[in-house]
Amino acid sequence: MNKDLYSVLGVDEKAAPEELKKAYRKLAKKYHPDANPGDAKAEERFKEISEAYDILGNAEKKSKYDLMRKGGGGFHFNETGAGGGSPFGSGGLDDILRSMFGGGGFKFGNRGGFSQQTAPRPTVVISVPFRTAALGGDVRADISVPVTCPVCLGAGGSGEKICSQCGGAGRIQQGQMVMPCPSCGGQGRTYINICERCAGSGEVTSSESVKITIPPGSDSGTVLRLVTPSRKTVLVKLKVKSDKFLRSEGRDIHCTVKITAPQAVLGTKLKIRTLEGKILLSIHPGTQPDTILRIPGKGVLYRGTKGDQLVHVDVEFPASVSAEEKALWEKLAESGKRKA
Ligand SMILES: [Zn+2]
Ligand SMILES: [Zn+2]
Repeated sequence: MNKDLYSVLGVDEKAAPEELKKAYRKLAKKYHPDANPGDAKAEERFKEISEAYDILGNAEKKSKYDLMRKGGGGFHFNETGAGGGSPFGSGGLDDILRSMFGGGGFKFGNRGGFSQQTAPRPTVVISVPFRTAALGGDVRADISVPVTCPVCLGAGGSGEKICSQCGGAGRIQQGQMVMPCPSCGGQGRTYINICERCAGSGEVTSSESVKITIPPGSDSGTVLRLVTPSRKTVLVKLKVKSDKFLRSEGRDIHCTVKITAPQAVLGTKLKIRTLEGKILLSIHPGTQPDTILRIPGKGVLYRGTKGDQLVHVDVEFPASVSAEEKALWEKLAESGKRKA
């Protein structure tokens, strides 16, 4: 028998996560050992269903499984189904299985195995306002963190038994390769009653409200280590929102202002927004297009040094003029000719 995880759950490979969950719940209820006492076939079926959902119900595991499924061969869960060579080579597939089943599978406390070491620390992306990223400050956010399953308290199930697929060895032979048993995640033991809430993984996702302290001068992509109130360590990746007016470049803040031709010739005063509020900036008479004015100390403080704000001055000329304005420009043109 070639166990295709989608057919185990009786769903199409394009099924949405809710459909998968629905199919799993329905089948798990039907074949649950409590509902079928002494029925070994039902128990086997229940185990299959739980295994299938453990992978298909987890976005990361599912995408790896889909990839292998498309790759053809090399991903059969039984001894007889080793069709074709593995596209990953020896070791490669083993690594993928480790990463696939490392975090999930069936947990048996901390009795060894590779499940504890390889579980990746989750990274969450947090959106940060431009000003907070530049000046530093606190951001509150709700983030998803894996927590111990409240139903089985992290065990993954109850009624320990020797894994029927590997006979307790924790490894299975597939063609020329020996690999960790996918049924028990290499532990050699599974449960008779697999926890329905966490599908045997021992962990569920929970939302936690956290306060993240953003250091001044943070950019998009900055990764911070955070310990949540429930003492989970999470890596937080920052995504800095852009500002309509201000742009940051290292320690300096840049902005562009537009002035009219008369303002450039005669000079003016402009209200300019900085990170720390508005200031009045003098544009001197005779300012040329593409002038860059520097406002010292209005940049970002980074490693003890504060940057500046650089104001790019753009001079705009009218695209069309009224009859009155035309007369004035003509007068200017005349006076220009006399000087020349
Ligand atoms: Zn559980
Ligand atoms: Zn096993």
